[in-house]
Amino acid sequence: MSESQMKIDSARANALISQLQEVQQRISTVAKGRPVRLVAVSKLKPANDIQALHQPPLSHTHFGENYAQELTQKAALLPSSIQWHFIGGLQTTHCKTLAKIPNLFVVSSIDSIKKASRLNKSRGEFLHEASSTSSSSSSSSSATINGENKIINVHIQVNTSGEESKSGCSPGTEVVDLARHILTECPHLRLLGFMTIGAIARSVATTPETENEDFIALKDQRDLVVKELGDELLGGRELELSMGMSEDFEGAIALGSSEVRVGSTIFGTRPANRADAKIVE
Ligand SMILES: *Cc1c(COP(=O)(O)O)cnc(C)c1O
Repeated sequence: MSESQMKIDSARANALISQLQEVQQRISTVAKGRPVRLVAVSKLKPANDIQALHQPPLSHTHFGENYAQELTQKAALLPSSIQWHFIGGLQTTHCKTLAKIPNLFVVSSIDSIKKASRLNKSRGEFLHEASSTSSSSSSSSSATINGENKIINVHIQVNTSGEESKSGCSPGTEVVDLARHILTECPHLRLLGFMTIGAIARSVATTPETENEDFIALKDQRDLVVKELGDELLGGRELELSMGMSEDFEGAIALGSSEVRVGSTIFGTRPANRADAKIVE
């Protein structure tokens, strides 16, 4: 099936468009002119929904997925103008799969040196294969090949709540060491910033007036890395914060979030079972 054959139900499309616009409006109200990227989290939702938001009138480009195989399938079906975000729990074995998605914008869940190294190595191999099969290798110094991303941005995921069930690095040395590794040893990756999920209880209690400890903790980790490595390895480049989901994105923006990841407020509730999710409807 090609994207042009994908059926878009107009009532569904209109509902999705107005839900995304509403979220965008709420973001603007809190962001007060500061740019905040909205990642529409489409996990377990069909590619038709994504296409409905990616095509005009909205032409939304940033979509987030949690499962490597589902992302691979959707990326193959949908236009390469989409900028994909992998935000799910990352296993080392996923890195190779993800590295082969040309228009992968960011992997937000890097939490170990081993996974960073694997993703870097696999991307290098993928680019090598892609350039040896393409005649136009003249653009080798730019950030893209044939309009697609060459490097993969990464966020270091930090376990700011300390819950055992959450993945992510522990705050402190582990975060700084991983950041240094990415900046010095991983030429196919670019450290874009930091990501946290945070504790549910804290996010439910978050309003634009209350300060969520997870968001403050993530900002502290960013400041620590900038202080430890900034002069030497960042050359003044800023690092971003990916924090805030449906329950708490306004509070996250108030605390300096650069990117919010919003799923159910745009797409509605997800199927309870992964087995019930359809790639295409
Ligand atoms: C599912 C998910 C989201 C979106 O959650 P909603 O509550 O549906 O907005 C954001 N970030 C991550 C890491 C997720 O897994």
